[in-house]
Amino acid sequence: MKDLIRNRARDLGFEACGFSSSDPPASGDQFNSWLESGRHGEMAYLHRNAAKRLDPQKVLPGTRSIVCLALCYSPDNGATARSRINRGSSSDAGTIQRPVEVEPGTRERVPSRGIVARYARYSDYHDIMKEKLHALSEFLASLYPGSRSLWYSDTGPVLERDFAQRAGVGFIGKHTNLIGRSLGNWFWLGEILTTAEIEADRPEKNRCGSCSLCINACPTGAITAPFQLDARKCISYLTIELKGSIPLELRSAIGARIFGCDDCLEVCPWNRFSQKARLMASHARPDLHSLDLIELLRMDEPAFRERFAGTPILRSKRRGLLRNVCVALGNVGGSEAIPALETALQDPEPLIREHAAWALDQIQLRFPRAPESEGS
Ligand code: SF4
Ligand code: SF4
Repeated sequence: MKDLIRNRARDLGFEACGFSSSDPPASGDQFNSWLESGRHGEMAYLHRNAAKRLDPQKVLPGTRSIVCLALCYSPDNGATARSRINRGSSSDAGTIQRPVEVEPGTRERVPSRGIVARYARYSDYHDIMKEKLHALSEFLASLYPGSRSLWYSDTGPVLERDFAQRAGVGFIGKHTNLIGRSLGNWFWLGEILTTAEIEADRPEKNRCGSCSLCINACPTGAITAPFQLDARKCISYLTIELKGSIPLELRSAIGARIFGCDDCLEVCPWNRFSQKARLMASHARPDLHSLDLIELLRMDEPAFRERFAGTPILRSKRRGLLRNVCVALGNVGGSEAIPALETALQDPEPLIREHAAWALDQIQLRFPRAPESEGS
């Protein structure tokens, strides 16, 4: 039966499929203390349904097994990561832009492009994964008549990384994300809770060893210790989940990132074994690799909706994205950004106005106007 399910999952486009028991997740206590310390920030939904996350029986009574699935979004396979390492660089210069370091006072024109996390350079994966999980659930029902199931992809009250580790799909790295030995870091998780009894796979174990590259690479210090993430400092949280003002002390570390952050994933040596996305390759949106910040800042609501229809970026809403754009321009923009930022000072959205004012101050600090000569 398991081989049949794995083969069907593979045919549907998933790169990995494993099976876990439905016992409560092992990291329940750690999850609770993380919530109690407030490190989840404004993600109140995590608090609201915490009891369900700690017990699959509260999600689907009678659950016996959890089918854990991985869907890759790597644009290339590990060979590319290996050749980068051989060249002495961990950065994918073709697709990842590093924030531009600008010497104070330098008048050089700098590229005003925003960086989008890799996962968001595709059509919204929730829609794609939903269809595939539904198809696999129907297949399960045909194999186990009378069974019931529920599926989720990042959308349900399930500690999915725990179950995926228990199902042998991967291990939770020190950056707190899941890593697959044959997947690297570039994949999403989905899971099907089922009342069918399916023999569990062997759990995976942590394989970070003495490595701490991800901790050192984090621009904001959000990985406060191995396996400890303070989401309130994480750029993914700040640019996607946070609805209000970005704390002043974290803005400069955001650089040119306008939607998510890949730094801790990108440096992980396990990417040498990543697989090129199969299903997702046809859903790639190369137009989202790097975006013109000034053009973005000029978008009104209809233009924003049209530009990002069907992509994860829509989730940030115009006010959130343009807030991020202002921060990025404050960090990497030059004088060419000033007219668009001055227009943004009149935006109906106070959040955008506040961040535009901050960005103008930052540009002024970096490019102080030369004092006018006497008598001119
Ligand atoms: S996503 Fe970026 S900010 Fe968040 S923990 Fe990783 S490196 Fe740090
Ligand atoms: S970068 Fe190193 S420490 Fe971090 S998750 Fe990868 S292997 Fe583990």
